[in-house]
Amino acid sequence: MTLDTTTFKKKLLTEKDLVEKELGTVGRRSPGTVGDWEPVASDRDSASPDRDEAAEKIESFEENTAIVRQLESRLGEVKDALERVENGSYGHCAVCEKEIEADRLSANPAATTCKAHMGK
Ligand SMILES: [Zn+2]
Repeated sequence: MTLDTTTFKKKLLTEKDLVEKELGTVGRRSPGTVGDWEPVASDRDSASPDRDEAAEKIESFEENTAIVRQLESRLGEVKDALERVENGSYGHCAVCEKEIEADRLSANPAATTCKAHMGK
């Protein structure tokens, strides 16, 4: 079976855009390091008047930090997968080197392992 990488490449590029857009809502690109993101505190419209604004800011900053980390690691996976598309190793399990099942790749185009080696 020859894997149709064009379809997956398109999916990966779409996901990359999406993740970067989401990152833009909770963080900003680090001025120093390319491809690095840092969290920002979001302005909340729903800030309750009895709560102190500084506390709200810290809270949203902490939340955003967690989201940025998550999105950044997803972005890394997607970028790695795109690199594998380019160098021709896409769709092969990192553990046993067999082809990854097409339905697994449909569910997660950035998958690096086959079903048998999921989570390894
Ligand atoms: Zn495997």
